[in-house]
Amino acid sequence: MSATVGLFVPNFGCPHRCSFCDQRVITGQQKMLTPEEVKNAANIALESLRDRAAKTEIAFFGGSFTALPEKEMICLLEAAWPFVKNGQFRGIRCSTRPDCISPEILKTLLTYGVTTIELGAQSMDDRVLLQNGRGHTAEQVRKASEMIHEENISLGLQMMTGLPGDTAEGARKTARAFSELSPSEVRIYPALTLEGTEMEKWYREGSYCPPSLEESLELCADLLDFFEEQKIRVIRLGLHDSPELKDKLVAGPYHPAFRERCESLRWYRYFCRNLQEKKEDSFVFHVPKRRISQAIGQNHENIRKLAALGYHVKILPQEVN
Ligand code: SF4
Repeated sequence: MSATVGLFVPNFGCPHRCSFCDQRVITGQQKMLTPEEVKNAANIALESLRDRAAKTEIAFFGGSFTALPEKEMICLLEAAWPFVKNGQFRGIRCSTRPDCISPEILKTLLTYGVTTIELGAQSMDDRVLLQNGRGHTAEQVRKASEMIHEENISLGLQMMTGLPGDTAEGARKTARAFSELSPSEVRIYPALTLEGTEMEKWYREGSYCPPSLEESLELCADLLDFFEEQKIRVIRLGLHDSPELKDKLVAGPYHPAFRERCESLRWYRYFCRNLQEKKEDSFVFHVPKRRISQAIGQNHENIRKLAALGYHVKILPQEVN
């Protein structure tokens, strides 16, 4: 279950700025969150979600939640905790850095009903972590994951693709290393070059060349296949689209419907695999109704690509008995 009421603490708590990051752009939020805002957001969500709220987590995203000054972190948790204690929400989720997890911090989080921790790992290659100013190692990701499992808190891991110094094979290695840590879920973010970041400087001086959109779609479709095989849910692929993001975007594999494009590519690969075994050149595929648009592709992309290979394909919704 990954339904959340998302609250953002942009860059507050971060010991420094990673090469690619500007949470004020990514989250569209400039100011520190207040306990009052937490309560208001929870009350508004209760009104709109009603019974579904009991399956939803109140989530602190966007910074290094457990690196906030302890008093500030506890103030935010204290604002959210009563909603969890009385059963209105399922729990609390936070995202943080792997080097900001300790047994003491986990005890505090448990006291306030934290049910899920997402670690921004980004890569499991120490070279890539160092080059991008992450300030932690892959070993710290492993240790933090173990500690989280020991406390029976659900673990989420976040990775990036296309970071300076990384490769497609490097991203696949990160995915394999993630699966050894048994997360319940992962998020995948293709790196985008944003104005005002270190990465922008490297891009403009020519020392960083981001992968193309097509390369990123191919890689992320592979990663979706891999995590599906490992039975690990990918709860997010690609940054949330927003006017702030578009305004600050300098370069990189941006697409407003990145995941949809990846899912379409996976359907295209599926059709190609199936068509190879057949002798005819006209086919009808039946797919689940809610997957029809992905299977057909944006602007009938999959149909057109298959036609270019000489296959005349119809994609129809599966009959439901
Ligand atoms: S730790 Fe996370 S939120 Fe903080 S600067 Fe790095 S990527 Fe951004």
